[in-house]
Amino acid sequence: MDKESKLDALFIGAHPDDIELTSAGTLLKLVKNGYKCGIIDLTLGELSTGGTPSQRQSETKKATKILGIKVRENLCLPDGDIQCNQKNRIRLIRLLRKYKPEVVFAPYPYDRHPDHINASNLIRESVYFSGLAKIKIDETTPYRPKRIFYFSHAYDIPVSFIIDITDTFKTKVKSIKAYSSQFYKPGIKKQYKTYINSKLFLKSIETKARFYGFKIGVEYGEPFFSPEPLNIEISNLLKL
Ligand SMILES: [Zn+2]
Repeated sequence: MDKESKLDALFIGAHPDDIELTSAGTLLKLVKNGYKCGIIDLTLGELSTGGTPSQRQSETKKATKILGIKVRENLCLPDGDIQCNQKNRIRLIRLLRKYKPEVVFAPYPYDRHPDHINASNLIRESVYFSGLAKIKIDETTPYRPKRIFYFSHAYDIPVSFIIDITDTFKTKVKSIKAYSSQFYKPGIKKQYKTYINSKLFLKSIETKARFYGFKIGVEYGEPFFSPEPLNIEISNLLKL
């Protein structure tokens, strides 16, 4: 195994900026604590109302630098048509077997945007099938991450745990603002006005983080759902 490419956590989103919006506070916290993290964006976001794919790629580079990670790949699946089929599973399994993450972060399987639902299904199936020895892909060896944790987009999720992102929230917002074709930036005129590129949307990111922070008694938080129960170390029980 190539030890260089091994990751602790792999965050997979449908569109560039999805990870920044949903779970970058947690990613930054992992990085801060010495864990190796990477991101896979499934599409280039070519259906976005604002910006072009090349603009989005340079914004993604900027955001990735802010997040302080070296691994970020794009599967270049068609935006608006992420299909959970064998061809796409094989492409994702190849990366799961390459990076061997302990845990995978993925969109919650019920959401307003159909791409997030389809991405979630594709990720869940790929994570499972990646562990099957009889699925042979090039020189890769079977590998299955231990857990999938789901993050929230537009809809509420059943919350299994919340990560305190108070110390990384500012950097998370900076990484979101790197996507200036998508979100509000003073002085930059948008061809089409949408909720996403309004001032209000940026405010809602703070409100959401404060809401989940409130639930665990800190300033900012990010919620996650684990379909499997979590094994709590007895020494951690009184610290929760
Ligand atoms: Zn998205």
